[in-house]
Amino acid sequence: MSKLASAGSSARAHTRMVMVGSVAIGGGAPVSVQSMTKTPTADVAATVGQIRRLAAAGCEIVRVAVPDREAAAALPEIVRQSPVPVVADVHFDYRLALAALHAGVHKLRVNPGNIGGVERARLVLREAKSRGVPVRIGVNAGSLEKDLYQQHGGAIAAALVASALRHVALCQELGFEDIVLSLKASDVLTTVEAYRLMAAQVDFPLHVGITEAGTRWTGTIKSAVGIGTLLAEGIGDTIRVSLAGDPVEEVRVGWEILKSLRLRRRGISVIACPSCGRTEVDVVRVAEELEQQVAGIDRQLTVAVMGCAVNGPGEAREADLGVACGKHAALLFRKGTVVSKIPEAEIVQRLLREIEAWPAEGQAEVRGETKGSL
Ligand code: SF4
Repeated sequence: MSKLASAGSSARAHTRMVMVGSVAIGGGAPVSVQSMTKTPTADVAATVGQIRRLAAAGCEIVRVAVPDREAAAALPEIVRQSPVPVVADVHFDYRLALAALHAGVHKLRVNPGNIGGVERARLVLREAKSRGVPVRIGVNAGSLEKDLYQQHGGAIAAALVASALRHVALCQELGFEDIVLSLKASDVLTTVEAYRLMAAQVDFPLHVGITEAGTRWTGTIKSAVGIGTLLAEGIGDTIRVSLAGDPVEEVRVGWEILKSLRLRRRGISVIACPSCGRTEVDVVRVAEELEQQVAGIDRQLTVAVMGCAVNGPGEAREADLGVACGKHAALLFRKGTVVSKIPEAEIVQRLLREIEAWPAEGQAEVRGETKGSL
């Protein structure tokens, strides 16, 4: 039975810890952000290039598909060059799983039930065990076993859980428990229910995601709702947002989900009011321009861009830095204190200068107050 234990800013379900290279999953470790490359894995330069872009965006564990021997042959060099732990995604062919382990991957995503029988699964799991490499059992609604589909009348949550437990039982029979589980469906409610059921039954760490979520637009919303619901309930130890698009977007969305639940902090958080009929500064443009300019800055700050005097000063005061706009100008707040009045055209540049000058963590100080009015 899963127990809720206080960890960080929210109550997390207690899970065991699994190490993926240097990154811990579960056991109270920070919820990590994963993604998957979309280049042909056999193309080492393209794949490593994409992994570097993902890592720069905050991806902490990267998965690569290993559909054939050419892809498996590229793994040693990909692992050598990757700045983050590499997970090999293997289906059906136990020889590819063994090749991936020999290549030094940090985790294997494989379903012991579809790798060619118990003996072959035993070979793979024994090799993983001897190398200290964990395995993610990734159940997908789209590839659920036929008998479970028929028994449950479809790929419902209970069927996904039964499939995962079947794979877990096989691992346990072989004395292998270095396991991470995932139970993904493209339907948000099915996915959420499946993870809830699973979290109540096992303490293996859970990899959470909504599979085939869709394009950047719909996929972001479905992922935020599904992953966010589970994380808010304390369920989930690592996440992957699946989007039909640039995987860097998956990482950005993943971080925003974690930041919005205060599970992790990373980079600059820009708060912006939606603007309305009171706005006399182009708040939307200012916020968008600021968000673009700060995307690569590795400082942990909250910056508020507010449109008027209704909620503006309050929000701007709460943030590390904030502007409350008025008539083609804005009051600049630093740590809750008004420090100057800025003309509209200079808002973004001034905020960027303030961010650059912000003291390193632990050295922040409140500076002198300047009276101002909108
Ligand atoms: Fe409108 Fe002011 Fe609220 Fe922005 S802060 S939405 S401008 S009332």
